[in-house]
Amino acid sequence: MAHVSVPMYWRTIPQRYQMMGQKCKKCGAVNFPPKGVCKYCNASSEFEELQLSGKGKVHTFVLIGAGGAPPEFADQMKAGGSYPVAIVELAEGPKVIGQMTDVNPKDVKMGMPVKAELKKIYTEEGVIRYGFKFAPDLEGK
Ligand SMILES: [Zn+2]
Repeated sequence: MAHVSVPMYWRTIPQRYQMMGQKCKKCGAVNFPPKGVCKYCNASSEFEELQLSGKGKVHTFVLIGAGGAPPEFADQMKAGGSYPVAIVELAEGPKVIGQMTDVNPKDVKMGMPVKAELKKIYTEEGVIRYGFKFAPDLEGK
């Protein structure tokens, strides 16, 4: 099963909690999550940190049903059945994958405005893992 050790997890806190991206100094593209080398021009490792707004729109989405979920979502599956996972195109350009929240799965549409919210995702080794989920951005219309 997918497993992230606790020390590894804590090292990724800044991006998980603040949604820090990195803007390539060469081509200007925004990388998120941060990479060693720009994934757009493949040539630059010079970046400036960029605080992402967390706002974007649904690029595409899938409904994850029984049997298709990673093990860390097993409890949630039992509680709630299928749930939507979206690929969101952020205002700054990068596409990120995240679970949708505060929305009826039937109401998720491509192109709908969303915003990232920090949510408890699952608990492992006694540590509550937080990450981003996307909720409808009602002001974004
Ligand atoms: Zn670049």
